[in-house]
Amino acid sequence: METDSSRGSLAERLKVKIEHVPGVPPRLVSLLGRLGLRTARDILFFFPRTYEDVTRICPIAELDGSGPISVCGVIEEVEARNLSGGRSLLGAIIRDESSALRAIWFNQPFMEQRLVRGQRVLLSGMPKRRGLFWELAHPRVVHLRADEQPARGAMLPVYPATEGLSQTRLRRIVHRVVDDLADAVVEVLPPPLVARRTLWPIGRALRGIHMPQSADDVQQSRYRFVYQELLTLQLALALRRWHVQRTERAPALPASAKIDARIQRLFPFELTGDQQRAVRELADDMGRCVPMNRLLQGEVGSGKTVVAEYALLLAVAHGCQAVVMAPTEVLAQQHYQTLSEDLQHSRVRIAMLTGSVTPRQRESLLAAVQAGEVDLLIGTQALLHETIVFPRLGLVVIDEQHKFGVRQRAALKSAGVDPHYLVMTATPIPRTVAMSLFGDLDVSTLREPPPGRQRVTTYWIADHQRDQWWEFVRQKLREGRQAYVITPRVEESDSDALPSVAARYEQLVHGPLEAFRLDLLHGRLSSTDKQLAMQAFRRGETQVLVATSVIEVGVDVPNATLMTIESADRFGLAQLHQLRGRVSRGKFPGFVGFFAAPGTDAARARLDAFVRSNDGFDLAELDFTLRGPGDLFGMSQHGMPPLRVADLQRDQNVLVEARDDAHTLVDGPAPLLLTDEYAELRTRVLQRYGDALDLGDVG
Ligand code: ADP
Ligand code: MG
Repeated sequence: METDSSRGSLAERLKVKIEHVPGVPPRLVSLLGRLGLRTARDILFFFPRTYEDVTRICPIAELDGSGPISVCGVIEEVEARNLSGGRSLLGAIIRDESSALRAIWFNQPFMEQRLVRGQRVLLSGMPKRRGLFWELAHPRVVHLRADEQPARGAMLPVYPATEGLSQTRLRRIVHRVVDDLADAVVEVLPPPLVARRTLWPIGRALRGIHMPQSADDVQQSRYRFVYQELLTLQLALALRRWHVQRTERAPALPASAKIDARIQRLFPFELTGDQQRAVRELADDMGRCVPMNRLLQGEVGSGKTVVAEYALLLAVAHGCQAVVMAPTEVLAQQHYQTLSEDLQHSRVRIAMLTGSVTPRQRESLLAAVQAGEVDLLIGTQALLHETIVFPRLGLVVIDEQHKFGVRQRAALKSAGVDPHYLVMTATPIPRTVAMSLFGDLDVSTLREPPPGRQRVTTYWIADHQRDQWWEFVRQKLREGRQAYVITPRVEESDSDALPSVAARYEQLVHGPLEAFRLDLLHGRLSSTDKQLAMQAFRRGETQVLVATSVIEVGVDVPNATLMTIESADRFGLAQLHQLRGRVSRGKFPGFVGFFAAPGTDAARARLDAFVRSNDGFDLAELDFTLRGPGDLFGMSQHGMPPLRVADLQRDQNVLVEARDDAHTLVDGPAPLLLTDEYAELRTRVLQRYGDALDLGDVG
């Protein structure tokens, strides 16, 4: 063990600015700064992006072409040639003790300056026999010092690079710092955790990640850092949950048998089993004076609205106010309408506040809320920017949560008490993402659709089938159904030839849908126009709505059973599934036909999956695999610091371990995490997530 004083001075050395770090050439300081490296510590934790696997360095004479290899030798000759058609060929002869081979690059003239005669290099690639010579086409080149002999079994780290700074240079700098300082880093993981998960101690892991001797070293070191990162996140989420339960006080709003019966009578249908279960779960939560923090996730059209309505009415039954926030005005209006219909014979007072009310209306509305004369307030996230005084706010419902940050919740409060929270999402969330982004929430899931629901059939319409498809649409319209036509562009753009939604509308009115009543809906319309368009469509006055993806979320018109999606490759998989959800809402079967010209294999795979599967949970997992967590589930989009080492797709198992351990450390009346043994780890958690998760003065 180090003594406190030696530890202190070592810790100081970690904070040293890079210009004073031994081994860092002064002229490289600003280049390193460009990589975000400012202190010795930054260099220690500047992890390789990948590794050059040179575990199989092969003498050239022994090549057999059975797989990719590395060879290590000296550049003997370099020759650049211009070929016909403006192409160029660069060739080099590399010699080792046993023989020589040829390396070639087409159309990479800039490689020439990197290939200097006499330079020692490590080349990796797939060797092919060409006459007398083995040849490596476009091998990866690593420059070695004259005396540098990568040991058999070594892996060369490849760091995120910046121009003007070679890998060789970076490696040398990092190695020096690791040699000097890896042991100065304080171990934040207490011994019981290190033992339980057989983790490499920090010093060893730092050496292992920067200077691994084998693939196993990489794996063990990486495991330690991934675990630490995910544990920190899970601890933060667990702490938040603990903190909320301990400090926040919500009004207890239990569902008595009488209240329950009174609410259920208002619904035009029986709740499904899943809906009943979700209702019980949220009623249990709301019956306690700890704020509910529940995520309701469900397949498109599974009937989340009515579950939320139950929660709203439960709050109102206890004399509380409740708020519903929707991501779009179209959806807010729809909620307003549904609730108004269901509650027309009750005394519940409903109001809607969107961006489009006049200042006068707005003022009187806010006054009414403050006077307690409004029970249910519906709006968009614009509500968050208002200063609204609620005398007795009991519940906040956030619909289609993935459209805006989950942690804006603190913005709505009433004096002294915290409301219960119900957030809803129709984009099923991959399990690992749910665990990482919403690990502090309880989850209810609706899987089964309401009874009598018809299947949707999805077709990828080839160009030569378009006439046939429009004929099919016309036939269904004549039978009395309604249709959507979705196009990706609100306005024309220079970057592609897609027509604007208005132009497309004109084409359809004067083309395939000539005989029908069409209308136009997109985000740029005034909110009155949007409202009118939706109303006319809902009442069946218009038969076809030509729209952008504004209708993606939530819109519910059961008689609309046809959807044509143009340029479907412009939409993400989750979005397509959401769109399809618009035509599976009634007693008639739904049909989606889409046109698409995918430019990549991944885009094609997404569209194939869209045709094949109707299950949002499956599709979400698949989308996640195809493109990684991506935009939709990005940590930063939810106001969380990004993960640096862990990959939620690849590291699922570690995530489960980290979550289990976090629960062990935080659950219970006297969390272990708050004891001295865990002080260092606790500080780390608060440093990283304290602000994002509003952990206040925990610990
Ligand atoms: P989502 O989960 O996508 O928000 P909605 O709440 O909009 O779905 O419900 C979809 C449709 O299903 C609505 O028309 C709604 O009235 C209907 N619905 C919901 N629950 C039931 C039920 N238990 N029985 C019959 N119809 C239902
Ligand atoms: Mg909905």
